[in-house]
Amino acid sequence: MPARSGRSILDRLKSGVVLGAEGYVFELERRGYIKAGPYVPEVVLDFPDALRELHREFLRAGAEVMVALTYYAHRGKLKDVGRENDLEAMNRQAVRIANEVASEGDALVAGDICNTWTYDPKNKDASSRVVRAMYEEQLSWATDEGIDFVIAETNDYLGEALIALQVIKELGLPAMVTLATTRPHQTWDGYDYVDACKILADQGADVVGLNCDRGPATMLPIIEQVRSRVSGYIAAQPVPYKTELAMPTFESLKTAEGTNVFPIALEPFLCTRFEMADYARRAQALGVNYIGICCGGGPHYVRAMAEAIGRTVPASRYSPAIELHPVIGTKVEEKEKEFLVDWKG
Ligand SMILES: [Zn+2]
Repeated sequence: MPARSGRSILDRLKSGVVLGAEGYVFELERRGYIKAGPYVPEVVLDFPDALRELHREFLRAGAEVMVALTYYAHRGKLKDVGRENDLEAMNRQAVRIANEVASEGDALVAGDICNTWTYDPKNKDASSRVVRAMYEEQLSWATDEGIDFVIAETNDYLGEALIALQVIKELGLPAMVTLATTRPHQTWDGYDYVDACKILADQGADVVGLNCDRGPATMLPIIEQVRSRVSGYIAAQPVPYKTELAMPTFESLKTAEGTNVFPIALEPFLCTRFEMADYARRAQALGVNYIGICCGGGPHYVRAMAEAIGRTVPASRYSPAIELHPVIGTKVEEKEKEFLVDWKG
């Protein structure tokens, strides 16, 4: 494996918060390069410049980790879209592009694996073998191209997450393993989320926590419990949507008329950048070590989060200066603000 940057993820976590950024699949779908539904990252091979650009935008916004876009670039998913023959090329190219952009800054590169939709607790031994083979092949290409650590994410099953952890540890790489939280309290194989994080940490995961599904409002209460149970590093990567007690995940969000909005009509529920900045501050105060964002994330959120925890990043050069706005800026005379009509009045 090619030696990459000087500082490992563990060194960085030791010296403070590591800011992550994800949401590549959702953002590149919005930009017209990935098909919603299968969500296979075909963009890696079809429009590599689009992927490169998004990595660069996250890097400029302060992301310290370029996560290779190998999410759903596994055998099962590629079969769904008839691109099984592109499996190796897609995985290798994703890691290569992440490396290219990481070296434009001081970022680390993470290999990425996720839930396979193949793991089946009722057929545990046979399905575990298939899952393990999928992770092994993806990570063999990733380590060959050069990665600093691995993120295994959106794990619905603790059982599947443990297979990912084992494969990562066998490669001798630091492992960050995060769970999906689509159900109220438990993984799909019946483990309380907090217990599951503790088990992963006890089994050797270097960073454990949650990603995707929940917005800050419904993820942070679980993260707070994880913090109290796990002494090692923990991660939170929520989606930037206004989930709430009655609709705790973005899959459960509904309009006032009762229409489901997941996954492509979520816009009315988006958080503002200020809300995501507030989330970053609260996560930092809770003692979260790896603070990131998942589906729905974009560079403006990441910059706001970076600045909220006291950082100035390359994109801060163009951070808002609303006082200079011609209508609402503070340098404008009151009478000139008249066209900010109060429609209720
Ligand atoms: Zn996500």
